[in-house]
Amino acid sequence: MKTIATIKEMNDWAKSHLLLGDSIGLVPTMGYLHEGHLSLVNKARHENDLVVTSIFVNPTQFGRNEDLSVYPRDPLGDSAKLEAAGVDVLFMPEADKLYGAGYETFVELERLPLPLCGKSRPGHFRGVATIVLKLFNIVQPQRAYFGNKDYQQLQVIKKMVRDLNVNTGIIGCPIVRETDGLAMSSRNSYLSTTERKQAICLYGALMVARRLFASGESDSKVYIQAMRDKVMAEPEAVVDYISLVDRETLENITIVSGDALAVLAVKIGKTRLIDNMLLAESASKNQ
Ligand code: AMP
Repeated sequence: MKTIATIKEMNDWAKSHLLLGDSIGLVPTMGYLHEGHLSLVNKARHENDLVVTSIFVNPTQFGRNEDLSVYPRDPLGDSAKLEAAGVDVLFMPEADKLYGAGYETFVELERLPLPLCGKSRPGHFRGVATIVLKLFNIVQPQRAYFGNKDYQQLQVIKKMVRDLNVNTGIIGCPIVRETDGLAMSSRNSYLSTTERKQAICLYGALMVARRLFASGESDSKVYIQAMRDKVMAEPEAVVDYISLVDRETLENITIVSGDALAVLAVKIGKTRLIDNMLLAESASKNQ
């Protein structure tokens, strides 16, 4: 595996392989890699001639009071995991090279970032869309891989690509979970032992929603109340949002149908966790 730090070297490498007719799959990450990230890498490995994984803790997607400075990092461990997974290039650019002095251009969607995470993290999706488009321009991937775990992010990127005629296929990948159901996340490392036990309430709430769906319930208010009750049973849990939304538009729905996505963000102590599930998905499938 090659490790590349400069934009020019990354772009030269990509162009030389595109000339040879190789397809490139890109997996953008912020590092501190776990099985969720590696599932994206594996899918990219199967579907492309070459795989590039980027590790970049993107400052423009963090709010002022968020965890940019303490975001967990493990470059050596990450590099070993990616090498073992058969990645061709690890791209680790420096922040001041991607956002040089006088940087002023951003990608901003008008509607999709407004609800859910965008409401509590203003500017977050502007930073996400901008860094993803920059990575696409540098790496020139045929396909790029994103987890359903960050469902709103995936929808924002799909929409950006459609609206701006970007020539990269966006592939959404299933959520990888711990054995007790907690969605894997680099931020899970912030949780104390007690908090870790309580964090299972996000998955618990999604299971409550799925059971209601299986019983034929169609009133979204019933779902939201039952999910809230499940989360609030944990002493450290504070709800940011719990919603039932349309899987495409992310707009709230009142009558629950097969297209409904249950989504929630909950703070456990100081750690903000998110999760989601399509209610119609078969329970055995790890959405
Ligand atoms: P991050 O490093 O948190 O920015 O995540 C990088 C990519 O990995 C994003 O597309 C995430 O949606 C995806 N990802 C993170 N956690 C998981 C997970 N548990 N299962 C599947 N994909 C994930």
